[in-house]
Amino acid sequence: MEKKILENYAKLIAKHGLNVQPGQDVVLTCSMDQMEFIKILVEQLYLCGARKVITNFKDPEIRRLDIQYQKLEDLMVPEKFEIDLQEHIASRQACRLFIESDDPDALNGIDIEKYSKAMNNIRKIYKPIREKYDNKVQWCIAGVPSVKWAKKVFPSLNDEEAVEALWEAILKTSRALEGDPIKNFEKHDENLRKRAEILNNLHLKKLIYKSKNGTDFSVELLDNVVWAAGGEYGQVSRIYFQPNIPTEECFTSPKKDSANGVVVSTKPLSLNSHIVEDFKVYFKDGKVYKVEAKKGQKILEELIASDEGSSFLGEVALIPFHSPINDTGLIFYSTLYDENASCHLALGCGFENLMVGYENMTLDEVHEKGINDSCVHCDFMIGSEDMNIIGIDKNDVEHQIFINGDWAF
Ligand code: ZN
Repeated sequence: MEKKILENYAKLIAKHGLNVQPGQDVVLTCSMDQMEFIKILVEQLYLCGARKVITNFKDPEIRRLDIQYQKLEDLMVPEKFEIDLQEHIASRQACRLFIESDDPDALNGIDIEKYSKAMNNIRKIYKPIREKYDNKVQWCIAGVPSVKWAKKVFPSLNDEEAVEALWEAILKTSRALEGDPIKNFEKHDENLRKRAEILNNLHLKKLIYKSKNGTDFSVELLDNVVWAAGGEYGQVSRIYFQPNIPTEECFTSPKKDSANGVVVSTKPLSLNSHIVEDFKVYFKDGKVYKVEAKKGQKILEELIASDEGSSFLGEVALIPFHSPINDTGLIFYSTLYDENASCHLALGCGFENLMVGYENMTLDEVHEKGINDSCVHCDFMIGSEDMNIIGIDKNDVEHQIFINGDWAF
């Protein structure tokens, strides 16, 4: 990919996505798949005025070896320096930047039970520290291609062609292939926010979903929880940032105990570096009571069993079927892209910051008022070409929200 285009993409991530401010620290988590790009990105972060960029390299194949060879009791406890890094993020209110490039099949065949146990424990240990920085300061996720990821998306191309093709798909869907990516994204952000405003003005209390594939589902919304889209403000930093590049969703957190019916997945789900495919999720009074998957049944069951809140919904998100990501015709095998291709739900924690007045409440209060709490948050896609969504407002008036997979307004 042309260096100038990559530089513009790095600028989009540093300036608009993370919007790092002079004097702020950045903790950058990435792999070594695209070192040239990472160097360009680090420079852009410094040009924005970052005080320190702390690069935290990860490699999924090494992770696989860790899981295979470490004893469970070692795997499930972070070392002191790892906890220190989390504490550093909290105490300095550092920005967090994640560059995704993992092979979607990286952890295939590992001992899922061992891995899930370890991850659940680690999340529990980190949770009180995370609460000191979550929502308070900027963070951003964006993608770069690795050879293995690119080959998964484009299996018939050779390594080099596949990486180039994935770069093109990433840049295109991030609105960074042509023109000025920051201007493109600002315009897109404005459009998304207008949609969220329309939804907020409808004061919906319930959504009813139906698709020919069997999805027949309803969920209730809380009247003091808003719809959000595009960028957001850090609660403490008050800096505007884009958590996801790309983003296409209008999303909210539903009432925890209100989901009923069945949803049918419409895209594969990449979960803990495993693929879950062709699955159905059944809800009763908010709780998942059954899952059926043609592929990845066990990993899905482990997810739901993670903790008390992992079998309840934390998110509903609306995305038109004819989104730029879906229009590529690709399955990215990466939630960052696939979740922005179609309507989705997420099991696990909700977004506390979407509750009006959350700044003056404790997290426990927010959860008591109906937003789900969990150590996990897992998006899965249910949008289809014929999906219809009806919204019922607080006066029991019906509004068509989605018609044939796309916005009705
Ligand atoms: Zn989402």
